[in-house]
Amino acid sequence: FDDPDWKIHYQEKFEECIRLPHLSDNLNVTPRHTTFSLKKRVGQVINGIDSSEEKSDYVNDDDRALLKVIKFSSPTSAGAECIDPYCNWVELWVHRAGPRKQIYFEPENVKAAIVTCGGLCPGLNDVIRQIVFTLEVYGVKEIVGIPFGYRGFVDEELTEIKLSRDIVQNINLSGGSLLGVSRGGANINDIVDRIQAKNISMLFVLGGNGTHAGTQAIHDECQKRRMKISIICVPKTIDNDILLMDKTFGFDTAVEEAQRAINSAYIEAHSAYNGIGLVKLMGRSSGFIAMHASLSSGQTDICLIPEVPFDLEGQYGVLNYLEKLMQKKGSAVICVAEGAGQDLLERSNATDASGNVVLADIGVYLQQNIKKHFKDLGIPADVKYIDPTYMIRAVRANASDAILCTVLGQNAVHGAFAGFSGITVGICNSHYVYLPISEVIKSHRLVDPNSRMWHRCLTSTGQPDFI
Ligand code: ATP
Ligand code: MG
Repeated sequence: FDDPDWKIHYQEKFEECIRLPHLSDNLNVTPRHTTFSLKKRVGQVINGIDSSEEKSDYVNDDDRALLKVIKFSSPTSAGAECIDPYCNWVELWVHRAGPRKQIYFEPENVKAAIVTCGGLCPGLNDVIRQIVFTLEVYGVKEIVGIPFGYRGFVDEELTEIKLSRDIVQNINLSGGSLLGVSRGGANINDIVDRIQAKNISMLFVLGGNGTHAGTQAIHDECQKRRMKISIICVPKTIDNDILLMDKTFGFDTAVEEAQRAINSAYIEAHSAYNGIGLVKLMGRSSGFIAMHASLSSGQTDICLIPEVPFDLEGQYGVLNYLEKLMQKKGSAVICVAEGAGQDLLERSNATDASGNVVLADIGVYLQQNIKKHFKDLGIPADVKYIDPTYMIRAVRANASDAILCTVLGQNAVHGAFAGFSGITVGICNSHYVYLPISEVIKSHRLVDPNSRMWHRCLTSTGQPDFI
């Protein structure tokens, strides 16, 4: 806080690393004024309304959205989040998303590709659909989908899928991804070779943290080869663990579905003699889904998340508290995020195809230990374990996510036409913005155990500290 330069430093990052090197003179790319106007086209087609220049619906390139403005009187204030450890005041401006008057690609010369990587997440089809719609409104004729994530670039057996409004019209009515997803896969150089061979000039990548890291590497390699290509990410993480963003698509839907699982666990537990409902939810590093689902359901007695360590055994452990709940209420509901309590479990060195560490199963571990604990005490307890993960990931987006997907998908295309690359689209501080990929993948966004939201969750569950 004493050093005003830190802010300039961060501000510069948000300004500079978003700029496309391919817009520089030496690459000979000339921006041109476009006659394109969403309002005008839509007006002409639907209402016959001609929009005037004065009523522009363009976002000016110099527009900025305020990413953060908050003043903490002390770094020890509940929820005080500081980008810089020495500051208690934050104000950062980032590029506002939306259509620009100047576009950097001739739409008729564009070949656009869309790829979905990582795991499933509600809303993938909604985003694909809006990207295709928006590209077509710009006048792009060649739009393809790359099947099964990054693998689709290099696997000779997989061919690109032609996309158009007709093809994607109804895909939002079901969950999953029209294009398929995958983990692991290809070497960055091979991917860029294929991008070059396929003559792709816009690449839209839907994926989580791993995908973003891959996209940054692809972007860097494309710049090294001086390719004229815009590479834009749309963050897909059901866990809501991308830095700086208010929320990512799919999260709302996941919470809605997850609280249904908690409610079912409650009914099961409440209807059994000494019933214990145990629900394991997604959240490898971040407990947002478990926290929000517990808050929204209101039926959780114990919420366990990766950010907050807990003991199982001992006076203050979860098992002892469960005994008390049995005496007091005759039933209990536990909601645990998949990444919680990993320190209690035996670590495996196994990794998935993408190199992510395979987590030990905290759900099964809790189930077994709770059963054993009550058996040893001679107290009958009926433990019902629910893992709704794959049911949640596969559902279609709810209304709120569908709207978020629509805006993100459209903004991804506006960003590409505006000549950005190596960026990701998001909603930050309630504004739709473009952020440099490098800034959002520095770490996972985590639940702050000192935040008001976590305190609200604790007030709602009534649980003590388990340490
Ligand atoms: P999810 O939220 O479902 O985990 P994700 O994008 O994090 O989504 P991953 O399986 O981790 O999913 O990664 C997706 C793709 O990105 C994979 O094909 C993987 O090989 C690639 N990838 C992951 N991390 C990196 C990295 N650091 N550099 C390059 N590529 C990466
Ligand atoms: Mg991941």
